[in-house]
Amino acid sequence: VVEVNNLLKRFRREDGALVHAIDDVTLTVDPGDFVVLLGPSGCGKTTLLRAIAGLETPDSGQVRISGRTVYSSAERVELPPERRDISMIFQSYALWPHMTAFKNVAYPLQSRRGRKLGKDEIARRVRQALELVGVGELERQYPGQMSGGQQQRIALARALVNNDDLVLFDEPLSNVDAKVREQLRFELVSMQRELGFSALFVTHDQVEAMELAHRIAVLDRGRVVQFGTPQEIYRRPATRYVATFIGAMN
Ligand code: ATP
Repeated sequence: VVEVNNLLKRFRREDGALVHAIDDVTLTVDPGDFVVLLGPSGCGKTTLLRAIAGLETPDSGQVRISGRTVYSSAERVELPPERRDISMIFQSYALWPHMTAFKNVAYPLQSRRGRKLGKDEIARRVRQALELVGVGELERQYPGQMSGGQQQRIALARALVNNDDLVLFDEPLSNVDAKVREQLRFELVSMQRELGFSALFVTHDQVEAMELAHRIAVLDRGRVVQFGTPQEIYRRPATRYVATFIGAMN
């Protein structure tokens, strides 16, 4: 579904130093794959996700999604986010406070270019998505009336309503309490299996990565230092850095 080739993104810090936020990253996400980008704060996870989504322009390299080149420095291609057919969910729920749960979830169905869905079809899909994440009864409520966990479920419904092949997650569970987080992780795994989308999921939490991932890409200062199954990474860490980071779990 996703192919990232030799992607590079540098930032100029205020003191003038160059930061290699993404340093020659090559990565694939297969159909039905659940890939977790794991690493400590500042290792480049968010920048990589944003570059795939089209929210950040890389310096060079290539990104292909579902067989289409969405970014290529060599071919001078850069598709805007809304033309990449992907959904994204963030750490902050980022729901519209003045819209009901229904309207929030319906929003991506109405805003995507080149497609007109009927009112009934929109209502059907929104209700299906809300049911899927277990908050069908909140349809008429506003975000301000909900708990953090409920808001994140609405945000999840909004990310899944388009049925995109690829869903990008940027630490979506870090703002909900531990019990809800555990529950949502469990549900996310079964939803992904059922719906069949491919997931690219950012976290700094080793336990979360081990639980969710089919494959984990460990990042260190913008580089993928190991890419493998949770078992491989746990049993045979490629570097001392990986061993220390994964080992910190125990
Ligand atoms: P976190 O979990 O804290 O968000 P991260 O692993 O997602 O960390 P990034 O946010 O991708 O890391 O940042 C990678 C590096 O790029 C960091 O050194 C950060 O300071 C730098 N960086 C990110 N965005 C910018 C920006 N807009 N301007 C300057 N530097 C940036």
